[in-house]
Amino acid sequence: MTSTQNIVVLGAGKSGVGAAVLAHLNGQKVLVSDASSIKEESKKTLNKYGISWEENGHSEQILQNTDKVVISPGIPITAPFVKEIASREIPIVSEIEFAYQYCKSKKICITGSNGKTTTTLLITHLLKSAGLNARAVGNVGESYAMSVAIDPPDYHVIELSSFQLDQMFSFKADVALLLNITPDHLDRYQNSFELYTKSKFRIIQNMKEGDHFIYNYDDPVIKSTFSSQKTTFKSHPISIYDNPGNGAWVENESIVININNKKQTIMSIHQLAQQGKHNLFNSMAAGVAAKVLEIRKEIIRDSLSDFQNVEHRLEKVAKIHGIDFINDSKATNVNATWYALESMQKPTIWIVGGVDKGNDYSTLKGLVKQKVLGIICLGKDNEKIKSEFGDIISPIYEASSASQAVQISYRIAKKGYAVLLSPACASFDLFKNYEDRGHQFKKAVRSL
Ligand code: ADP
Repeated sequence: MTSTQNIVVLGAGKSGVGAAVLAHLNGQKVLVSDASSIKEESKKTLNKYGISWEENGHSEQILQNTDKVVISPGIPITAPFVKEIASREIPIVSEIEFAYQYCKSKKICITGSNGKTTTTLLITHLLKSAGLNARAVGNVGESYAMSVAIDPPDYHVIELSSFQLDQMFSFKADVALLLNITPDHLDRYQNSFELYTKSKFRIIQNMKEGDHFIYNYDDPVIKSTFSSQKTTFKSHPISIYDNPGNGAWVENESIVININNKKQTIMSIHQLAQQGKHNLFNSMAAGVAAKVLEIRKEIIRDSLSDFQNVEHRLEKVAKIHGIDFINDSKATNVNATWYALESMQKPTIWIVGGVDKGNDYSTLKGLVKQKVLGIICLGKDNEKIKSEFGDIISPIYEASSASQAVQISYRIAKKGYAVLLSPACASFDLFKNYEDRGHQFKKAVRSL
């Protein structure tokens, strides 16, 4: 870019501050504008670079004198002020799109309804283990723009939400992964699953020969949507249940990867650090990404077997008097909880509930019958859960704090049982966020 532009960054969270610093260091005139108050930490960074900011509202001048708006993923495109900006034909882009124009590194991009963070961290771990200079950015870790601005690595492993994808236009991934598509966040897509699917598929936009697409062959939505697309890049299906012939699949309980007609057995599925079918899938996807980047099989095997569990995702907290306590607080939708229940090997006391995003619990009933011996609701309004599962499990307990839920679970569980916090719901009725819920759960377990 040659001439100085007036850039407005809406939202002063991590991604907004990153975009502002990147724009500033590249000679643009920047204003960061937030509808609420800005955190001290963000202000400190902006002040350090001499970047202008305003809080508790947006000034009218933004509508007159702005060349480009960088919007944070938390702000809906339908917000009145954003609509006003769009009506003046000022381009509105996400932080990822904005940073892309300054980025020279290879980009491995991950999206899906569930498993993004885990797979992003798995791939970063694999690349680092191979001695490559890689960094996890996007929804996890640092902001992508900040990473591009300051000491960029050779490889960016970028976790992308659909909200970020929506405001991406010229961005191109070198390697794109689409893990799964199940209903989530539909409130931001006019309750249309089709629009949400389209948004996820933006991950492959602009990709061309020499680029790679890794996708879930077991996911009917992804499979059928992708089969109708004409593409020039290479695609690599991943399947746990089928043998797609290329990409990755399971054969004799081992992971097989076939890229460019070079078929290799990588490792036994029992050697994986992360257990459960969903993690088998995430590990296979990460393995294929690594293979595409020509990382050796031995490194893939070692890294997939020594990967450290991610906090709040089927995290083993403690074993107390023979009872395993597991924190899966990040399971904020039914699909994530389905995989958590599916992976349970012991009779389970299940802690569930919170803010329901229009959940359909019927898909969980089979697993609950098979694996769950007790249910504790941890939410303000538990009626739906009680009526869904009341005929299978009785009594259903209710708790209004993590510590109360843990105490009830400890009372009803026996030696050899597991207590699983996997809420299938958002947390903000009783907690600040899912991290707070997970931390309070762990604290309560540790003080038993
Ligand atoms: P995201 O970043 O997409 O929210 P996470 O890796 O943080 O994904 O995991 C979120 C929740 O989904 C956790 O409860 C985790 O156990 C579960 N999960 C992880 N991978 C998958 C997958 N491939 N399919 C379904 N659920 C998954």
